[in-house]
Amino acid sequence: MVKTVNERVVEETLKQALKISRVAAKERGKIAKLIKTLSKKIAARLIESDYSLSLPSGKRKKAIEKYLKECQSEIAGELSEYREEFQETLSGLAVFASADAAQTINAIVKIELMPTAGISKAQAKTLASEGWIGGKTVGEMFSRLGDKVADKVKEFARKSYAEGKTVQQMTRELTGYKDRNGVPHPGIIEATRKTAEGIVRTSVLGISNAARMETYRDNASVIKGVQWVATLDLRTCVDCAMRDGAAWDWDGNPISAHNFLYEEPPLHVNCRCVYAPVLRSFKDLGFDDFDEMPESTRASMDGQVPESLKFSEWFESLDADEQTEILGKGRYELYRDGKITFGDLIDQNGRAMTLKELYETLDL
Ligand SMILES: [Zn+2]
Repeated sequence: MVKTVNERVVEETLKQALKISRVAAKERGKIAKLIKTLSKKIAARLIESDYSLSLPSGKRKKAIEKYLKECQSEIAGELSEYREEFQETLSGLAVFASADAAQTINAIVKIELMPTAGISKAQAKTLASEGWIGGKTVGEMFSRLGDKVADKVKEFARKSYAEGKTVQQMTRELTGYKDRNGVPHPGIIEATRKTAEGIVRTSVLGISNAARMETYRDNASVIKGVQWVATLDLRTCVDCAMRDGAAWDWDGNPISAHNFLYEEPPLHVNCRCVYAPVLRSFKDLGFDDFDEMPESTRASMDGQVPESLKFSEWFESLDADEQTEILGKGRYELYRDGKITFGDLIDQNGRAMTLKELYETLDL
């Protein structure tokens, strides 16, 4: 069957999202490396510090306090240096994602349909520095990360002080080591690596989504709304999977059969969802007599919201282990035993319910 224009738009949007997620993977690698480097620097600072187990406890405490102050500025410095570079990347990415979105549509319909070609460099810069991702700017996320890393070091240093650890013991724990049995013990601040990677990934996806959305809105005369596209795999959360295929107009009213509230991805940290634009029909655009239009495109630009593979159909194609992985054991069992349906998994706001909430509604 010939695909409609809007179906192809969804396909191409998924490809765009894939490109963006490669950028995200690269940035994740960079921040992971930064955390490692930071571990080494913090350990080196301890060796250079006044701290020594042989000092009287009062002086030892003072040395620890001084060391922690130094660490804090080291952490803040390193992270802000990375953040500046990262925001440059985000800004470039926003320009790219936006232009890509517009060009893709033009390429599909084979005419210069989009009134505007994408956001400006200045807009992209503002987006990268002031855009909200899950209610926070990139700068705010990084400053929280800095606090988190500094807290880890503080907690560790104070505990080490109380336990009378030597500088050698402490540096080993700061940088990470393998014990006699070959079991690796990651460095103290390694625990923040996942958070750091999450921030980077979510920012990359969030800012590029925002840039695409700007472009769609700027072209609202030809785009009637947006459709939620989730990457359906075992890492997809129920919240996101349930929304797959749902579409809204620019006023946030559903234009497909669903009752989710309009929200913009990312829905959560590491959310990989994107919005695909839903183009108006050629007829709506007053293009009935558009002679230069290739006939195939003319007919297939029907303004319909594409049907998506239903989460339920996809879910049923999985085996029990995979289903458990997505729903969690408790919810999976309720589903398997026919005590709940897919609809029961979410509350009236479209949020996935915890097992406890489910039990409360089911009165089991
Ligand atoms: Zn998602």
